Amino acid sequence: MRDNFKNVRIDYGSYKTDKVVEYFSPFNDAPIDDENFKNADFSKGCWVTSSCGVGFNGKGYYACAVAGGIDRITNQNMEVASLKDLTNKALKEQLNEFCKLCGNFKAYESNSGDFIPRVEKEPFKNIMTNSWKRVYKQNFNINKKDK
Ligand code: SF4
Repeated sequence: MRDNFKNVRIDYGSYKTDKVVEYFSPFNDAPIDDENFKNADFSKGCWVTSSCGVGFNGKGYYACAVAGGIDRITNQNMEVASLKDLTNKALKEQLNEFCKLCGNFKAYESNSGDFIPRVEKEPFKNIMTNSWKRVYKQNFNINKKDK
């Protein structure tokens, strides 16, 4: 591969061995569905916001890339269209909405949002809590009506 694609860098330290990546967080484990997170401050986000920076997709800017994906599924249209409008207030508003659905928030709460080395993470568990079941069901119905 390196012979054909000189600029491609392969991360052999990623520990990926197959399509299922065992150290990924269970994304659909929404903290909003967990009593233990009823008083959580979702506006603080998780390590993704500090280590990976803001996210950007075809709609605009987000507090993180995951937030952009959640917005696409939940149709909240909370993108920030211009980089100059990407204020702390706008970022916190997004985090308040999107982190409550994001399994990363739960996965990283125990270490106050600091990065967990991937080798120390729990193996992937196939969890989908009630909020995500509703979101996928609603989104599927909306998309069917559009067709
Ligand atoms: S918890 Fe999810 S949505 Fe919130 S900052 Fe982390 S990755 Fe982004």
